Amino acid sequence: MSSSFLENTKHYIDKAGQLLEIPTDVGKQLQTPAREVRVELNIRMDDGSIGTFIGFRVQHDDARGPFKGGLRYHHHVDAAEVNALASLMTWKTAVAGVPYGGAKGGIQVDARTLSEGEMQRLTRKFIDGIHDVIGATKDIPAPDVNTNGQVMAWIFDQYAKYHGYQPGVVTGKPVGLGGSEGRSQATGRGLVFAVEELLASENKSLDGMTVAIQGFGNVGTWAAHDFVAKGAKVTAIADISGAYKNAEGINIKEAIQYVKANRTLEGFNGADHVDGAEILTCECDILVPAALGGVLTKDNANDVRATYIAEGANGPTTPEADEIFAKRGIKVLPDIYANCGGVTVSYFEWSQNMQHFYWDLERVNAELQRVMKRGFKDLQATAQKYECNYRMAAFALGLGRVWDATKLRGL
Ligand code: NAD
Repeated sequence: MSSSFLENTKHYIDKAGQLLEIPTDVGKQLQTPAREVRVELNIRMDDGSIGTFIGFRVQHDDARGPFKGGLRYHHHVDAAEVNALASLMTWKTAVAGVPYGGAKGGIQVDARTLSEGEMQRLTRKFIDGIHDVIGATKDIPAPDVNTNGQVMAWIFDQYAKYHGYQPGVVTGKPVGLGGSEGRSQATGRGLVFAVEELLASENKSLDGMTVAIQGFGNVGTWAAHDFVAKGAKVTAIADISGAYKNAEGINIKEAIQYVKANRTLEGFNGADHVDGAEILTCECDILVPAALGGVLTKDNANDVRATYIAEGANGPTTPEADEIFAKRGIKVLPDIYANCGGVTVSYFEWSQNMQHFYWDLERVNAELQRVMKRGFKDLQATAQKYECNYRMAAFALGLGRVWDATKLRGL
């Protein structure tokens, strides 16, 4: 999956480069990652054996500001996947208009097999390996798949052992350690703001819309929560244990409580349990892939029954599927816009850390909505200018901004 993910990302940037008439040598410069770090991580496992893992940090581009991007703990993590995700971050921070570049990191590990103690030792070991190349004005990690506020707190602490108190070195921290109100909700919340903007552009609202969500972790649960709060009906959700459908609408508060208590939806009885793949092709108005990449492909794109797709996950749609959706008139809000709420509130968190001045949740939500509204306007204007879909508009917008900053800074 991951090398094709890298190719898919390159495909979109190449096409955006053609739209902007970026010279080939400049295109190569903008796409080449600035630094790739690979570290061997040896830790003592609970059973006394030595566990050996590989960690990656790829710093893609910092023309517009410090490198920025999440850390993923997953058995699929490899150099190609981290490279693709780091590149996406460069264009995403540019689309969001936050003053960062792009990076991504990860550890190749099945996180479900680790105890909390093993997870902590692995995280600290990783920071021992990369602390020299990260920092509040260099490269700022954040949560991604299977990492959370607690993991960020360990990063904060381990980094402090080398460099002193620097809360801005990592975002997505718990509020008690300098995290921002609203950060954990931000990606899902930003996605719902994005969908509202798209619907408003067609004189529609979320009221009565049906939603299917693949992935019921950080992004999926908060998106579900906000969709319901705004009058939509979440009729299908899915996680690693399968898909759960209820045409009357799933009680999302109950489902969230269930996952908190049981880690997954396995055994949840508020909906019918069906095969996991059905989530992508079930009857709904809005489909939200919010798990892993590469799930919407030429093999299932013709069976998708949604009118709108909002990409919570990074890279969930292959270029072939994207073309099929365009032909079928299915509107796609691409990852680098739809899920940029997370990095946007990370930016708010970092700004608060740098100023040691903290905001309340109302201010965070209002600023996030402002960024998502502005982002949609920019996307619409770019789509009109180049007569393209929202995905190409997002890549053109991001690439253009990075190109401008690169030109200004010079070689
Ligand atoms: P998470 O670890 O909190 O949740 C992941 C969810 O996906 C879990 O419910 C898991 O069971 C489910 N899942 C895993 N494999 C699955 C499969 N094969 N089928 C169905 N469900 C499956 O992760 P997250 O932070 O919610 O991230 C989800 C996606 O959103 C990722 O692609 C991530 O890169 C992207 N994203 C996250 C953020 C953020 O702020 N957390 C920001 C931008 C993008």
